[in-house]
Amino acid sequence: MSNNKYKVLIIEDDANICSFIKTILEANGYQAIAAGNCAQGKMMFTSYVPDLIILDLGLPDCDGTEVIRFVRESSSTAIVVLSARSDEYDKVQALDMGANDYITKPFGTEELLARVRVALRNRRQESGIAPGTRFTLADLEINYDKRQVFVKGEEVKLTQTEYNILAYLSEHVGKIMTYAVIIRSVWGVMDSGSIKKLQVNMASIRKKLGSRIDNDNTHYIINELGVGYRMLEESEIE
Ligand code: CA
Repeated sequence: MSNNKYKVLIIEDDANICSFIKTILEANGYQAIAAGNCAQGKMMFTSYVPDLIILDLGLPDCDGTEVIRFVRESSSTAIVVLSARSDEYDKVQALDMGANDYITKPFGTEELLARVRVALRNRRQESGIAPGTRFTLADLEINYDKRQVFVKGEEVKLTQTEYNILAYLSEHVGKIMTYAVIIRSVWGVMDSGSIKKLQVNMASIRKKLGSRIDNDNTHYIINELGVGYRMLEESEIE
């Protein structure tokens, strides 16, 4: 057995969910450790230095976002937040504070494993994109050096802003990016009209790229309503 396993810290006070996650991760080659509250979670983060944290937002001794703040003071360890469907605002706040992704309860094995894989991969890619790199996703191709975009080999003419948004999402493929995070990266500042501006640009991008399959409503980028946008990863496209 390899001892070079990714170490995952689960911080969740619900014992059933905690052992469900731990069992799945261990069965799939991860090392999993668990904490049942904030204080224990912070302590285990400091002593075990995990590669990924799966964090429940509703903890008995503090709000989960407090753990995000604590971790982000010293580390870029990937954080995937667990949230209830009703916690829309908490979810966005957690992402804005530096969480990498979220999973809405209840969730299944495949979804959990997919989110974990993406979070760990995005961590590895944080070093940035090497010169000459091309991004491909099904029929979509982006040439970062030339700032050109192709679909099925044909160039798609995007505006400067549209290109910046598309490139940014592709650099974080598979990961949900909140409106605020995209806006900051593209325009630098956010004002009352920013989200509308982003939505207008996004509608235009999706129209220009077209659907992946003719006459079908399938896109490269999905809108997580009220949260942000996510570029699908290759494995999600059949
Ligand atoms: Ca809880």
